[in-house]
Amino acid sequence: MTACPGLATALLNRAYADDLDATPPSDTLLINEQSRLLESRGERVIKFGFGQSPFPVYGPAVEALARHADRKAYLPVQGLPALRDGVASFHSEIDGTPWQASRVLVGPGSKLLLFALIKALPRAEVLIPAPAWVSYAPQARLAGQTAVKLAASFETRWQITPEQLEAHCREGGSRTRLLILNAPGNPTGLSPDAETQRALAEVARRHGVIVLADEIYGPLDHHGSHRAFARDYPEGTVTTSGLSKWCGAGGWRLGVMHVPEALGGELFARLLGIASETWSSVASPVQEAACVAYRMSPELANYLERQRAWLGLIGHWCAERLQAAGVRTQLPDGGFYLFPDFDAHREALVRRGITTSAELTARLLKETGVALLPGSAFGCDPLQLTVRLAYVDFDGGVLLEHCPQRYDDPMGLPTLDKVRAGIQAIVEWLP
Ligand code: PMP
Ligand code: GLU
Repeated sequence: MTACPGLATALLNRAYADDLDATPPSDTLLINEQSRLLESRGERVIKFGFGQSPFPVYGPAVEALARHADRKAYLPVQGLPALRDGVASFHSEIDGTPWQASRVLVGPGSKLLLFALIKALPRAEVLIPAPAWVSYAPQARLAGQTAVKLAASFETRWQITPEQLEAHCREGGSRTRLLILNAPGNPTGLSPDAETQRALAEVARRHGVIVLADEIYGPLDHHGSHRAFARDYPEGTVTTSGLSKWCGAGGWRLGVMHVPEALGGELFARLLGIASETWSSVASPVQEAACVAYRMSPELANYLERQRAWLGLIGHWCAERLQAAGVRTQLPDGGFYLFPDFDAHREALVRRGITTSAELTARLLKETGVALLPGSAFGCDPLQLTVRLAYVDFDGGVLLEHCPQRYDDPMGLPTLDKVRAGIQAIVEWLP
């Protein structure tokens, strides 16, 4: 007997038509697919759209993954105890603030851990700076929480200010508040200075705001001087990180989260409940490999140091070229993003029919082959002519063999051809 898919589909579509809650694909993953598609059609694309590490996975972790390929058992929901110990030591050392292994949760990427935290809170207001990474607001909506935007500007280096947070908290309301802070930032590449961070921590403490510090780019601070938010607000900061950026292993899907003891047992129990009812545990071989990745050693320190040196050099080079072309761009502190603002070219762009950041990135892709993401994808006003540029279209494996200081003209290396060509194409395209 045949089933009746026709009726099922009709009912489904009718239900969807009444439901305004659809979650469209994430802009970051979409630009990755679009760039791949254009390339597969033989078009030349400079991939500044998707934020993926250009460096190879840390070698000893790759070997450990291969050695443990036959590990087949489900592991504890919270994560392998040895891994949680390793993660706690690693972060306590590099962040200068204690992480407790008993309060570490391992998940399949920090993205799901962020979602689990937002979901685990009682009815909450999730305060999200603009610009901020594309997935926070959709996650808050998916979790049934209220997302509130706090707009930042070029003048404050795209950071929200303590005064802004204070003003928002004074508006009252008894809901739990979760403030998401991401440093070094995606899409900006920037971190708050220590004084601003301390002041933000002070406001959060005074108003009982929980801070979710997304520090996935922390070990890629170009000077190795990332200041963990938990140093200034240990009792109220939940921190997330993982292997995706500093370890070059985005596709391995391993993230970590630290929830301070001061936030109590109930929140942690709820997180474990969500983990056990959804992902169960992270792949066993990947957790074994992560035990090696999180073991600090001279080799690991060198691997991190070289990434930082190259990223700092490339990021500064790109930002300076854009600045020289009248595109205001802050010099990055860490990670691999820039957030250029084309406002100075607005009039000429309007004459070309470009009034929004989405039109700007669409035209740049069509006319120069450079893929970027519009500022609007990160919560900014669509009329603000900002874009996110991920300066990652190069083979980091070649670069990791040496420090940039070894070369007279490190930016002239053939590995960096596409980065140079991409920036040049943008600059030449400008009115
Ligand atoms: N936060 C930020 C700011 C990111 O850029 C990313 C990108 N992948 C994530 C979280 C999620 O990373 P993952 O799930 O790979 O740990
Ligand atoms: N974090 C990356 C980006 O912002 C991509 C991965 C993702 O969004 O999940 O481009």
